[in-house]
Amino acid sequence: MTLTLPDAALAELTALVRSGDLIVLSGAGISTESGIPDYRGPSGAFQRNHTPMTYQAFTRDPAARRRYWARSFLGWRMISAAAPNDGHRAVARLESCGLVRRVITQNVDGLHQAGGAQDVVELHGSLDRVICLDCGELSDRIELDDRLRAANPGFGGPVDEATVNPDGDVDLPEEQLDGFAVVDCIGCGGVLKPDVVFFGENVPKERVADCTATIERAGGLLVLGSSLTVYSGRRFVVQAAKAGIPVGIVNQGPTRGDDHASVRVDAPLGPTLTALAAAAAP
Ligand SMILES: [Zn+2]
Repeated sequence: MTLTLPDAALAELTALVRSGDLIVLSGAGISTESGIPDYRGPSGAFQRNHTPMTYQAFTRDPAARRRYWARSFLGWRMISAAAPNDGHRAVARLESCGLVRRVITQNVDGLHQAGGAQDVVELHGSLDRVICLDCGELSDRIELDDRLRAANPGFGGPVDEATVNPDGDVDLPEEQLDGFAVVDCIGCGGVLKPDVVFFGENVPKERVADCTATIERAGGLLVLGSSLTVYSGRRFVVQAAKAGIPVGIVNQGPTRGDDHASVRVDAPLGPTLTALAAAAAP
């Protein structure tokens, strides 16, 4: 797919990127071309009245936890099989030529790293890790997946891509969830949770402080594929704007940071970023 951007917008974006010391803040919109639906996109979860799991329900209600793991067990098939797209590769290219210093992502799919990016802060954690809420032990999702498979032979079936959410959760009718067996921490028997920040949960303080310090020293902030609906990401745009750091936004549809942006492009991410990397990289 080729893309013709308005020359002025591409020129402005290119100038922002060329000035260097750029921090990328990315959201679900950069992964939709990898087949992972956006919460707020046209087929997104909020359009289907999907309510994401909250931290409170997950920790307080064993039945909610069982439903989450059953759905996530199926969603993981798709998330773990997803491949990085042109947008992820363009970001990695801009990083490798020294224009992008760091990527802060709201995504939990690991696709920036799979696309070659080196310095990636996973603001909301990552689905490929699991944490024990009792002993704090971190472990690999792949290991947990093996244990869940063994505990649930024959569970599931084909998953409709349109029902998978960016947090790896799948919309499933209640009766399909019956009988799913949850497994606990091998070390202590405690409750396992994916190492991601759920709705209703805060991003760890140290991680926020690390990102705030990164933005403080930035030459520019480039928002890619985020509607900036959630404060955990929007705060960095507000911080940059207050400090006089230029903000560029590439997103399909309006964002809650548009008022802070010095350049704004409403276009598909993959082709836009490919064009941008080709124009800006030395
Ligand atoms: Zn444990």
